[in-house]
Amino acid sequence: MNNKYELIYEGKAKKVFTHDDANKVKIEFKDEATAFNALKKEKFEGKGKLNCLISARIFEILIKNNIPTHFIELENENTMIAKKIKVIPLEIVLRNTAYGSLCKQTTIKPGTLLSKPLIDIYLKNDELNDPLLTKDRIELMNILSSHDLELIINLTLQINVILKSFFKNIQLQLVDFKLEFGYDFTNNIILGDEISPDNCRLWDLNQNDIIVSLDKDRFRNDLGGLIEAYTEIHRRINDFLKPN
Ligand code: UDP
Repeated sequence: MNNKYELIYEGKAKKVFTHDDANKVKIEFKDEATAFNALKKEKFEGKGKLNCLISARIFEILIKNNIPTHFIELENENTMIAKKIKVIPLEIVLRNTAYGSLCKQTTIKPGTLLSKPLIDIYLKNDELNDPLLTKDRIELMNILSSHDLELIINLTLQINVILKSFFKNIQLQLVDFKLEFGYDFTNNIILGDEISPDNCRLWDLNQNDIIVSLDKDRFRNDLGGLIEAYTEIHRRINDFLKPN
C-alpha cells in the first residue's frame, strides 16, 4: 500500500488504511489465516485476494437487496474501499445447521438442520476469548441500545434469507456465518467486515451424505486444500453472476 495512507488498524486478516476522503477507508486483505483465537496461524498465498473478491461480490448482492453495507468498490484485487465505520464490538453469528462451537457447548449433534435460524452473539474481545453473551449482558455493558440490537438481529435474519438462497443456487449449504456491524458517519447502522469462507461455513451440496467443507474449517481441522476450496467458491460465484 502506498505509504501516503496511514495504517489505522491491523487485524488478523485485514489491514485498514486511511483514504483521501475522511469518511472512507481502504481495507487490504491479508494472506494469513488464524484459528482458535490466533493460537493457530498460517500464510496461504492468494487467500487475501480470494476473500476480497468473494466479499465484494457478496456485498454487491446484499446492496442490490437493500442491505446497508460499508462496501463501496474494489480498488484492486486485494483492497476494497469502504465507508468508515465505528465498529460495534459484537460478533453476530447466525446458524442454519449445527456445527462448530454450538456442538461443543450443547448436546446438539453436528449437521442437525435447525428448525429456525439461531443467532448467537459474542463479545469481540480477544483477551476475553470472544465470550458468548446474553441480551442482558449486552444491555449491562451499554454497547448499544435495545432498539439497535433488534435492528442488527433483523438485518442478520434478512441477510441469511438472501445468502442462503444465493449459495443454494451455486450448490452450497450455508451452515453458519459471522457478521459485524458499525455506525457510519451519519450514525446509521451498516454491515461491515467481510463475508467470505473465512467467516461462513459452506458445504458442497454436490456431495452425497458426506460433509465437504469449502471454508476455513479446512485450516481449522487440518483438511488441506484451503486455496483450492476458496478458488472453487470464487469460481462458482463468478460463473453464476456472469451475464449470459
Ligand atoms: N466465526 C468467525 N470468527 C470467530 C468465530 C467464528 O468468523 O471469531 C465464524 C465461523 O467461521 C463460523 C461461525 O462464525 O462460520 C460460527 O463459528 P463457531 O461459533 O461454531 O466457532 P468455531 O467452531 O469456528 O470456533
